[in-house]
Amino acid sequence: MAAEQISILDTTLRDGEQAPGAAMGVTKKVEIATSLMDLGVSVIEAGFPAASSGDFEAVRLIASACRSTAVGAFARTTREDIEVAGRAVECASKPRMILVIPASDLHLSLKLRQDRGQALSTLAEMIMFAKGFCDHIEIIAEDATRANIDFLCQLAKTAVQRGAQIFTVADTVGYATPEDISFYFDSLVTDVPELKSAQLGIHCHNDLGLATINSLTAVKHGARHVHCTINGLGERAGNASLEEIVLATVVRSERFPYQCGIDTTQLWSVSRLVEAATGFSVSKNKAVVGTNAYSHGSGMHQDGILKNASTYELFSPAIVGAPERMLPISRHSGRKGVRQRLKDLGLALSDGEFEDLYLKIKTQNLASGILDDRELIILTRAVTHSNKH
Ligand code: MN
Repeated sequence: MAAEQISILDTTLRDGEQAPGAAMGVTKKVEIATSLMDLGVSVIEAGFPAASSGDFEAVRLIASACRSTAVGAFARTTREDIEVAGRAVECASKPRMILVIPASDLHLSLKLRQDRGQALSTLAEMIMFAKGFCDHIEIIAEDATRANIDFLCQLAKTAVQRGAQIFTVADTVGYATPEDISFYFDSLVTDVPELKSAQLGIHCHNDLGLATINSLTAVKHGARHVHCTINGLGERAGNASLEEIVLATVVRSERFPYQCGIDTTQLWSVSRLVEAATGFSVSKNKAVVGTNAYSHGSGMHQDGILKNASTYELFSPAIVGAPERMLPISRHSGRKGVRQRLKDLGLALSDGEFEDLYLKIKTQNLASGILDDRELIILTRAVTHSNKH
């Protein structure tokens, strides 16, 4: 059976950029948008045009620069937001409007000061209004995983009946577990037959570290549109990470038989680009794009890797375009790892010299714990030099 297609909506430039301190200038945003287009994302959520004139301008420029992918503008369900968003994406070759409506009673009463009935009318009215600017409308049900399920179904039904093409469930505060996600999606699929003519989407946050598995669980239960960001950038603990979701479908395709349309060999470079543009460093041990994700420290692991990479490496770094695997030299290293590095550096030592060097490595008191190539060369010279005298 052919793998089913999932559309990836990247929201690095909207939800990602909302992370305090991650704001980017227009030039950097266009550069990132272009690289997202080359990466193969289905939709670039380019920003929230009503937020400021800078946001409006960035969305407009991205819409005109990124011709081969859909470009979306985020808006609340108000006439003002929708009008500005509509103008920002009017020059896009595939314009999208992404409208957010609160779904939980908590958000409805405190933010919109509306009851459920009023929210349904607002949604119906605003979709009709938005259709005057853009034919393709996605509805995000905010805080949906804390919403009453019957009301969420009513929102979905209204959205589709009024002409929205996508209805997205947002786990806005990262509250849901995979069981909750299964429940909400199973209910929507079963109780809202109207969704057969639309797409279900998922938008997860990582407050409990569950964003990736929640997104994949939603896909297993009917979602075909996934919101995510590069490096998991986003408000608070971040959004679901694009690279983690995509790699799970590639490396464990028997469990997640879906095609995301992403050129995975560009993931490493796009990750570095977003890291540099935002100043948000990716943690060393971040899955898929951390600088240590393909490093092996202990002697036992280094020995295994040198015999056969599959011993301790789940997938080749080449799949994501990462530099070759690294076997950093530290006091944890074994003889085989050290010999390999010396060979790579073109350093030849006698057996006696090697043992002297190895002892030095084991007893070195290094601040970082890792001996870089320069330090290794200096130590090697010291050993070979002392042997000559
Ligand atoms: Mn969000």
